[in-house]
Amino acid sequence: MNHSIRSLAVTSVFGATIVALAGCRPQAELAAGRGGASGSATGGGTAGAVQQEKGHRMHKQAKVVKTDAEWRAQLTPLQYEITRRKGTERAGTGAYADHKEEGVYGCVCCEQPLFASEHKYDSGTGWPSFDRPLEAEHVAKEEDRSLFQVRTEVLCSRCDAHLGHVFDDGPPQTTGKRYCINSAALTFAAQGPGEGAGSAEETGEEDRPQ
Ligand SMILES: [Zn+2]
Repeated sequence: MNHSIRSLAVTSVFGATIVALAGCRPQAELAAGRGGASGSATGGGTAGAVQQEKGHRMHKQAKVVKTDAEWRAQLTPLQYEITRRKGTERAGTGAYADHKEEGVYGCVCCEQPLFASEHKYDSGTGWPSFDRPLEAEHVAKEEDRSLFQVRTEVLCSRCDAHLGHVFDDGPPQTTGKRYCINSAALTFAAQGPGEGAGSAEETGEEDRPQ
């Protein structure tokens, strides 16, 4: 070992000691900071097996229950974030905010029909807005106390997908409700010319429970 460097190290201030040692001793790397940063092997914690099964409630219809991994495989990252993690797309970014075609909006996860174009209106919020669901029993509601406020969350009743929220500032001339729904939670099926597009009466008959 080089005596001159060693003695220098002992008599130097701490920072200079490191520099001096780094010149001749490999283990000084530990103190002087790693050059290569080889420590990123851990990766993101994919809690893959996390399952959120809420199948306890009684429903007339069969529930669609899938594992988190299955939902991830089926959905785009955005669809997954919103429907399975209760996310919210940025206003004005969704495909259906200004969508005006005649048809039915279904759940992106399980395809259950949820909303109809005839109940869609322009709320000016940047999210698809409806004054009612296609059928009341196709949506579930839960109190949501996140973000320091109390809101009513709207979910798909068949697969528990988070859809959005419902508020009481909807069109007063109809229901007064505003179902504020994420585009990414929806699929859309256009109504063909031969399927009675715009015929509210026909749809109304189908929708009647009994
Ligand atoms: Zn669903």
